[in-house]
Amino acid sequence: MEIRAQALEKLEYFCLNHLSKYSTQRNFDNGPEYRENVSELSKYISHRILDEVEVLKTSYKKFSYPIIEKFIQEVLWRTYWKGWLEMRPQLWKKYKADLNKLKDEVNKEEYQNATMAQTKIEPFNDWVKELKEHGYLHNHARMWFASIWIFTLNLPWQLGADFFLKHLLDGDPASNTLSWRWVAGLQTRGKNYLATSWNINKFSKKKYNNLKLNENAAPILESENLTIQPLHFDKVDFSNSLLVIHNLDSVFLQKYKNKFQFNHCALMDFNTVLENNFSKKVLDFKSAINIEILTELKNNFGSNLIIKNKDDLLKIITNRNIKNVIMPYLTCGYENDYISEIKTKINISYLVREYDQFCFPFANKGFFAFKDQIPKILAKFVI
Ligand SMILES: Cc1cc2nc3c(=O)[nH]c(=O)nc-3n(C[C@H](O)[C@H](O)[C@H](O)COP(=O)(O)OP(=O)(O)OC[C@H]3O[C@@H](n4cnc5c(N)ncnc54)[C@H](O)[C@@H]3O)c2cc1C
Repeated sequence: MEIRAQALEKLEYFCLNHLSKYSTQRNFDNGPEYRENVSELSKYISHRILDEVEVLKTSYKKFSYPIIEKFIQEVLWRTYWKGWLEMRPQLWKKYKADLNKLKDEVNKEEYQNATMAQTKIEPFNDWVKELKEHGYLHNHARMWFASIWIFTLNLPWQLGADFFLKHLLDGDPASNTLSWRWVAGLQTRGKNYLATSWNINKFSKKKYNNLKLNENAAPILESENLTIQPLHFDKVDFSNSLLVIHNLDSVFLQKYKNKFQFNHCALMDFNTVLENNFSKKVLDFKSAINIEILTELKNNFGSNLIIKNKDDLLKIITNRNIKNVIMPYLTCGYENDYISEIKTKINISYLVREYDQFCFPFANKGFFAFKDQIPKILAKFVI
C-alpha cells in the first residue's frame, strides 16, 4: 500500500479503536509488538505525509474535546517545539558546532559501547537494538534512554540527540534536539529528567532487576543565547515559477495544487544532503516517500524532474527560464541549512502554511503559555 494511504488508514484505525484510552494508557511501553496505546503516527507527521490539521480534525470528529485533550496537546507539542526552535535558530547552529567539536568522542569506547548496545544497563541495550531495528522508540523509552545516556553513562547530550536523529524514522530537529535539552535540564533550566529503576519497571513491559542508575544527578548547565529572533516569511511570486516539493512536506502538492499557479514542478531529493550520516533505514523510508511524491508529480503535471543538488537546480532554472523557485517552508534542520546556503545565490522563496504562520509565534514562551492558545488554534483550523 502507498505510504499516504497507510498513514490515513492508521490514523483512522487508531482514532476509532484506541484514541479514547490514550490519556490513561499512553505512558506504557508495551514493546514493539503492542503499540496500540499510542498512535505511531510520528513518522508520517514528521514528513507531513499527514499534516497536523488532518490528524486533529480526524480525532476531533470522533470524540469530544475532554476525551482527546491529551492527544491534541501531544500533537501540538510538536508544533510548539517547531515554533520554539524557529525563533531561536542560533541553538540549532550551536548544536551543530558542538557536534563538530565532539566528533572525536565517537571513537571512544564509552560511545561505541552505548551505540553498539554493549553497556551494563540491560534496558538501555534493549532500546538501542529496538531503535536500530524499528526506527522508533516509545516516548517514555526515549526519555529513559536520554536520561541514562546523559546522567549514568555521562555521554554528551548532543551525541545522543545526533544518534536519535539519524536512526528515528520520525527524526525531527526541533522535537528531538529540544526534548534532549529538556531531559538534560537546559530547556526548563535547572530541571532535568532523571530515569529511575522504579519508573522503568512500572511502565515498561519487560522488567529489569538490579538496575544501577544515577538517580540524583544535577542538571547540565550551559551558557547560551536564547534571544528570540523574529520569524520571517518570504513574499512569494509565482511568475515563471518552479515549485520544488520535498519530503518534509510530502502532502503539500495534494493539498495546494489547485490553490497556487506555478509553471513547473520538481522533487528535491534531500537524501544526498543526509547520506553520509543517516541510517539506511531512515534513508530508505525517505526514498520511498520521494518515489510517491514523484509519481504524483508525473500523474498530475507530467513532471519527472528530480533535483539532487544545486547544479541540478541551476540547470532547470536556465533551461526553463525560471524566475522564481518556490519551496514549501523548511524549518531548522540540515535540509534548510543546505537550501539557505543556496538561497544566498538563487532566488528561492519558502511558501509557508497558514497553520505554521499562525501557530509558531505562540511558541515565544513555555508550553503552558502555548497551551492557552490551543482553543484559538482549534477554532481556526479544526472545528
Ligand atoms: C529524547 C526525545 C527525543 C524525541 N525525538 C523526537 C523526534 O525526533 N521526532 C518526533 O516526532 N518526536 C520526538 N520525540 C517526541 C515523542 O517521543 C514522539 O513524538 C512520540 O513518541 C511518537 O510516537 P507516537 O506517534 O506513537 O506518539 P503519540 O503519543 O501517538 O502522539 C501523537 C503525535 O503527537 C506528537 N508528539 C507526541 N509526543 C510528543 C512530544 N513529547 N514532543 C513532540 N511531539 C510529540 C507526534 O507527532 C506524535 O506522532 C522525542 C522525545 C524525546 C523524549
